[in-house]
Amino acid sequence: MSVLPIVCYPEPILRQVASPVVSYGQPMLALIRDMFDTMRHAKGVGLAAPQVGVSLRVIVVSYQQHQLALVNPVITHLEGEESGEEGCLSLPNVSLLVPRATIISVDAQSPNGHPIRLKKLKGYLARIIQHEVDHLNGVLILDKGGEVNGSV
Ligand SMILES: [Zn+2]
Repeated sequence: MSVLPIVCYPEPILRQVASPVVSYGQPMLALIRDMFDTMRHAKGVGLAAPQVGVSLRVIVVSYQQHQLALVNPVITHLEGEESGEEGCLSLPNVSLLVPRATIISVDAQSPNGHPIRLKKLKGYLARIIQHEVDHLNGVLILDKGGEVNGSV
């Protein structure tokens, strides 16, 4: 198990558009394993590769029974809107009210490169995935949230 250091704002990598994953194999599996270890150690519900200093399009999510590793995730459908409170492991002590779609569909690849299609995810799970996909595009909750609690 490897817990990696979490990159915090304002490190520039958090503002980069992450690169698509084109090669699969042991290094990708090891990265994903380390991301799960790091997320659990930090008691987070989601983590994107740029948050551990790797500018690749990879996210992990751990929420209730859902343990997801998504490579090259693309949100293919957005429906509804709802504001909810969010924090971010890269912005300690900040929580913001962020508007998100309430229902999403996602296409991605598994850690082995197999296609994954997630249809009509709802609620907090949909919120976490939108937050993590934002990280892959250099977008932070600071860009979309309101009613700041805490300071950056
Ligand atoms: Zn975050």
